[in-house]
Amino acid sequence: MSNMIKQSVKEVHGIGDEACEQLQAIKVETILDLLEYLPFRYEDYHIRDLHDVKHDERVTVLGVVHSEPSMRFFSKKKSRLTIRLLVNQVLITVTFFNQPYLKSKFKLGEEVTVTGKWDQHRMTITASQANFGQSSSTGKVEPIYSAAGKLTSKAIKRYIKNACTQFLSQMEENLPSYLLEQYKLPNRQDAIYQLHFPQSKEQLKHARRRMIYEEFLLFQLKMQAFRKGQREQSGGKATLLPIKEMDQFKAKLPFPLTNAQQRVVQEIMTDIQSPYRMNRLLQGDVGAGKTVVAAICMFGIVQAGYQAAMMVPTEILAEQHEQSLQKLLEPFGIKVCLLTGKVKGKKRKELLQQLQNGDIDIVVGTHALIQDEVIYHNLALVITDEQHRFGVEQRRALRSKGENPDVLFMTATPIPRTLAISVFGDMDVSIIDELPAGRKEIETYWTKPDTFERVMDFIKKELVAGRQAYVICPLIEESEKLDLQNALDVHMTIQQFFTGQYQVGLMHGRLHSDEKEEVMNAFSKNDVQILVSTTVVEVGVNVPNATVMVIYDAERFGLSQLHQLRGRVGRGSEQSYCILLADPKSEVGKERMRIMTETNDGFVLSEKDLELRGPGDFFGEKQSGLPNFKVADVVHDYRALEVARADASKFINSDVFWQDDAFQKLREYLMEQGVFDGEKLD
Ligand code: ADP
Ligand code: MG
Repeated sequence: MSNMIKQSVKEVHGIGDEACEQLQAIKVETILDLLEYLPFRYEDYHIRDLHDVKHDERVTVLGVVHSEPSMRFFSKKKSRLTIRLLVNQVLITVTFFNQPYLKSKFKLGEEVTVTGKWDQHRMTITASQANFGQSSSTGKVEPIYSAAGKLTSKAIKRYIKNACTQFLSQMEENLPSYLLEQYKLPNRQDAIYQLHFPQSKEQLKHARRRMIYEEFLLFQLKMQAFRKGQREQSGGKATLLPIKEMDQFKAKLPFPLTNAQQRVVQEIMTDIQSPYRMNRLLQGDVGAGKTVVAAICMFGIVQAGYQAAMMVPTEILAEQHEQSLQKLLEPFGIKVCLLTGKVKGKKRKELLQQLQNGDIDIVVGTHALIQDEVIYHNLALVITDEQHRFGVEQRRALRSKGENPDVLFMTATPIPRTLAISVFGDMDVSIIDELPAGRKEIETYWTKPDTFERVMDFIKKELVAGRQAYVICPLIEESEKLDLQNALDVHMTIQQFFTGQYQVGLMHGRLHSDEKEEVMNAFSKNDVQILVSTTVVEVGVNVPNATVMVIYDAERFGLSQLHQLRGRVGRGSEQSYCILLADPKSEVGKERMRIMTETNDGFVLSEKDLELRGPGDFFGEKQSGLPNFKVADVVHDYRALEVARADASKFINSDVFWQDDAFQKLREYLMEQGVFDGEKLD
């Protein structure tokens, strides 16, 4: 009988073929789909005092009509109706778009409630609805469904009402009752009903609480069960690392490791030595010292008799890593090589041969490392730097080299720590949350773009002191549409400014790789003092003598990217500066600039970025692996996510969960999701 609910929506009164098709278009096929098609927002018709309403918020107010309505037609269908309304002694303006029929309903001196968006600066409500006299909906919370085509929110509401009457009683509970009691959550039927037909804000709150917990719990159960299953069949090997030699290696480094570096080295070593295959994300802010962590681990692997590979997104970065690894590792007789698209002909052939027969211990390179022609002797550890630059496919290809090598992904784009733990269900996460001692904060300033001369004077002062500067522009060619600064123009202007005094280089994505290298080398050697560049210098590049970073159109970048760019300076012992040229129009844009000037902490920035942009944008589309939650929101309902995560972990690791009837529905869910085959996971 419970299957009724899984039948087509056609069973619901009032839904005919046409409605059925319309519903299908929004992916509502079964009665259950319909019942779970939740409002995307609620119109709150509780009358509020305008003093408590923020700019841009939706509000319902009660007032007295204070002027004759005035009408203006822009076209046949487009019109604007304006009235003045006296609300609690305050005179405001109310406008309605494209609802000309309302005009005759407004009577001078009569009471009316209007609902719409409040513009605090103009004292105006752009209204969607007006109710005259005693209205039925006043004082209520009204669900709004996302509609599509001819299917209106109202129609959806009607269908859902019928579906509730006929079938809601058949909806099954999926959470054990003791959990509902423990967290004081309504049962599933009540929660769904309240979400569709809220009786009060209070009840709506509890209904939402229940659905949020349920969504997070299911998500976490799935992730954790998946991970547990993966671990069991990951088929890695337990590599015995030479601890003593590794300690000696660490002792010979030019600096002591930070506590955070020590800790993550330990976490990685534990993985390498365990029979599971490592799948670990190493996060560390720009300059936190990830390279040396990688070097220590690769040292261990090579001493244990295996090969290691390090993959990076650009040739420049590959060369830099090769050099720094060589410096650290060659004194110990370890052979480090570079493999990029530029290694060609006989040299490439030789190199591939040496990789295959094991003469090369460590190879650093771009995606050239994962081409079919590259065959390893015994690859046991793969490290990728700035992993967010690689697609999932590339990562998989890299992992398929060698026999189930351990994999470490390094990234300087911090993801809010707790969120990272929740989101990367199939990855372990290590975090370097400490910078080496003695680092100076980069002083960051935000100024309007019309301060060119002042900015140039500032750069000049640093150049006179022997330092260098970066100037970053978003695009290389003028695009009228976007009105972005043009790197070529900027380059020319700056060159003119410094004629006969300093060299100004230009770097952008359309240059050939040897041209890029030439420019980069010249900058590294201080033959060029100012480097005008698009964002290609974003990752990894290390020129410690550079102390100024100027970023044009800074409002066009995300916080994480700005932070990455800023991280190109502050790498030496001198005080460094970052100047953001920006004229953001929105409040959020201004807030972003302010945050940049206030903190140098990548984790703080990433939290803010997530808050301001929301998880979808933050991760880039489909990158996150986050499901589309119906009610829950990983940022705002973060605490619930934590609770659900802890509960899921407890369940997955308990016998009760795999046996007790109370968890039957949750086990069924895991089976449906394909992460549990009915046999207990342990
Ligand atoms: P990132 O994490 O951004 O990749 P790097 O590995 O490039 O950072 O390290 C940045 C700089 O800090 C390098 O010059 C490196 O030699 C130095 N460094 C790394 N660890 C330490 C440490 N524990 N103490 C002092 N300097 C360090
Ligand atoms: Mg790095």
